[in-house]
Amino acid sequence: MDKIEHIGIAVKNLEQSNKIFSSLFNKDNYKVEEVLSEGVRTSFFQIGPNKIELLEASNPNSAIAKFIDKKGEGIHHIAFSVENITKEIERLKKLGFHILNDTPKKGADNKLVAFVHPKTANGVLIELCQDI
Ligand code: ZN
Repeated sequence: MDKIEHIGIAVKNLEQSNKIFSSLFNKDNYKVEEVLSEGVRTSFFQIGPNKIELLEASNPNSAIAKFIDKKGEGIHHIAFSVENITKEIERLKKLGFHILNDTPKKGADNKLVAFVHPKTANGVLIELCQDI
């Protein structure tokens, strides 16, 4: 596993949060992207070498809607770059981590992604990201 690729923050209203984080960072987001398969609208900020992803549910069944219902807004996941996501999934499965999707799927910002269940990672949802 390589560097932190981004940190994902669950928000209720993407437009409002874009304004808040633009003010905080003194910088505009560089893209807004909807990921239909995940039921999310995302917005990305580049802060030096780091990225922040804001996530808003685009439908009530989205994992983000459920997360906010349970826990409220806030940090949702930490994403790490990996060179070979398929190998990394296999490696982690052998070690007993629960991978939410064994087959990598297309995520936001031109990545193949897979998630490690927070139950097997001390309550933290981990996203693995490979550049496409
Ligand atoms: Zn993410």
